[in-house]
Amino acid sequence: MRIDLRSDTVTRPTPAMLKAMTLAEVGDDVLGDDPTVLRLQDEVARLLGKEAACFVPTGTMANLTAIRAQTEPGDELILHEESHVYFYETGGFAGACGCSTRLIRGDRGLFEAADLDSMVRGKSVSYPASRLVVIENTHNRGGGTIWGLDRINRVTSRARAHSLRCHLDGARLWNASAATGIDVAAFAAPFDTVSCCFSKGLGTPAGSAVAGTRDTIARVNRFRKMFGGTMRQSGILAAAALHALANHRDRLADDHANARRLADRLADAPGLAVDPAACETNMVMIDLADDLGTPHDFCARLAAQGVLVLPNGPRRVRAVTHLDVSSDMIDHVADIIRAAARDAAGA
Ligand SMILES: *Cc1c(COP(=O)(O)O)cnc(C)c1O
Repeated sequence: MRIDLRSDTVTRPTPAMLKAMTLAEVGDDVLGDDPTVLRLQDEVARLLGKEAACFVPTGTMANLTAIRAQTEPGDELILHEESHVYFYETGGFAGACGCSTRLIRGDRGLFEAADLDSMVRGKSVSYPASRLVVIENTHNRGGGTIWGLDRINRVTSRARAHSLRCHLDGARLWNASAATGIDVAAFAAPFDTVSCCFSKGLGTPAGSAVAGTRDTIARVNRFRKMFGGTMRQSGILAAAALHALANHRDRLADDHANARRLADRLADAPGLAVDPAACETNMVMIDLADDLGTPHDFCARLAAQGVLVLPNGPRRVRAVTHLDVSSDMIDHVADIIRAAARDAAGA
């Protein structure tokens, strides 16, 4: 048995999702008449409480178009040093938007309103213009951490006081909502733009979206085309997203329960440091004692037993739960990981 916990992106479309895709009514989205894409964009705007939304192929393009739409070359972004935009998006904020960054440190992907103050540039013809704050919810490298509404409100109000715009990288906003019971629109409300992914916990083969005001989304739409992200019969992918929004949001609670179950079963394993209380959504961060070898070697050891996870730091590996993982598999995975830690310590 092969159990893939590398990411929640590895899911295969379900038979029902594939059926929805084959039945999709399509047009040509460059010409603006793919009815299923238009329906998805309306649905995403409605769910996130925004005027408009734009369907894009990837979360990376969602963030890139949102940043490009709200900045000019030479502007500066303020974001967490472990944020996906900074860490995993090939420097697109610089390469495609011409922006520089000021980075905030903070535990588990979080920061506070006061952290913004020292990062905002004063008014001078010599300084780059501070323009946009990016917050990530849930925070990926933080371990699937939830940014709570109070913290979001404190940080975004301070950003407004500094005349900054605010972007939410909500690739896993659905998880934050499922874990807290707070509506995604409430999480999205303080932000000018919000990106979200259908290809993570929701389980589609591809697809993300950006939501915001009509004017900002018109700019997003323009940059989507410029960056080569406007597709033709993309209603086939939009149909998968509509299916996932209707059918796969409630079940994210199962992923969270499975992640917590894995964390609980590893909490007392010799050589492993796992904090179940830090496991807020669908990610389990596992820190390895020094005598267990490198995360890369540890992952290879697990792969030989059919369990796939990824290195996520100098001593850390990451396991992510998703819709192709059951609670029975979790118990098996916990046994394999505990045995690997025992073997590695003896090696
Ligand atoms: C995965 C992810 C993205 C990018 O999504 P892709 O579809 O892989 O480009 C953006 N932000 C966060 C927080 C992510 O986890």
